[in-house]
Amino acid sequence: MNDEYLKEEDWRSQGYTHPLRDKSVGSKLTNDIHSLFSYELDEVPPGSVTKARWGKLELEEYKLLDQPLRLATQLIESAPSSDAICSITEGERYISPDNLSHSGLAVFEFRQHSLPSSAIREKASNILNQLGKTITFFVTNRDPITDVVGTSHGRTSPISLDHPEGVTITDRPEVKGLASMVAINRYYLNALKYPLLEAKKDEFLIPKIYFEFAVTICHEIMHAINFAIQSELLKKYIEMGTNFKKVPFNEPIHEGQRVAELGFFWEDKVFGGMCLHSGRHPEKGLFITDWPSWMVRDKEEDPERAPPKKLSVKFLVSTYYMKKIQTQEFWDKVNLEHSEDLLALRIRRRVGVMCLYTGTDFDLTWDWTAKENRPETVGNEFRVLEDSRE
Ligand SMILES: [Zn+2]
Repeated sequence: MNDEYLKEEDWRSQGYTHPLRDKSVGSKLTNDIHSLFSYELDEVPPGSVTKARWGKLELEEYKLLDQPLRLATQLIESAPSSDAICSITEGERYISPDNLSHSGLAVFEFRQHSLPSSAIREKASNILNQLGKTITFFVTNRDPITDVVGTSHGRTSPISLDHPEGVTITDRPEVKGLASMVAINRYYLNALKYPLLEAKKDEFLIPKIYFEFAVTICHEIMHAINFAIQSELLKKYIEMGTNFKKVPFNEPIHEGQRVAELGFFWEDKVFGGMCLHSGRHPEKGLFITDWPSWMVRDKEEDPERAPPKKLSVKFLVSTYYMKKIQTQEFWDKVNLEHSEDLLALRIRRRVGVMCLYTGTDFDLTWDWTAKENRPETVGNEFRVLEDSRE
């Protein structure tokens, strides 16, 4: 992908290279960090000897994550997030009508939950509190168990060693599942610990890293929630013991959607698309694009109902958005005036880059040249650059 097509004025208009980016938009987050992210577990798990939730992460390092964990708390408890959590845990699951399968296993579909709106936040909150009793985190360059953190922002593995009997996170005791360990790529922490020399005082870099970290950890929580309600997987785990790692497993697909990936399902619900992180290159911008998109595609891992659309447009996420969402004033207002608003956190799309997939396995039934499928029809306030090719 080539961001050189973005002109200086495009970056500037989104607050990336302008003195105004340093303008304060409010005060730091002061909300409590959710117990799910606390430095220690409440109790020593039955199969463990330690209450450490973050592995070997030093308390001093954990403190560097203070603001992003407060942000993650707000995001994960927000109305659209609670709605997504309730669909994952309470939405009906069934074999998909088109018998979708992946790795030789059926892919289940799940429906939107049918809870009354007054019950959603409380239900989701109980689930997160229960999950918080067992979930652990690991900030790492390399995940010693799955060995795949390398280029991922995060990775969630069902590791129930500490909870050999499984876990329960819903109010249905018959539904049990596996506890999870979430590996978070260390590059976020490294960027906060050793800010790039040039960027040390850069007021745009830090909020962006905070935001990407918070999105990553919330994304991974969705995978952990799903593992915690997989009774069949728990049975296999108990049967197979140490061979368990190789068990094929599919996440469910939301009804009618094209790809099964619960973390992106959540990002889409909360932000109206999925985030394209700058990851190892924190000096670069953060983009958002429709989900699913070929730009974050893992066809080995994620069940697909159809191949990707050839055209994706990625939009710059403004520095203003990232800074605003990290102020206490923003959340005080959201929680007071928009507490049930599923759209309050949506990211506006203004400056975009069109990106064409060059592989041959794209969805031929979707005409990317049709006028109605071109981004120009989305609105008139942004400009889209046409000349980017992957
Ligand atoms: Zn994911």
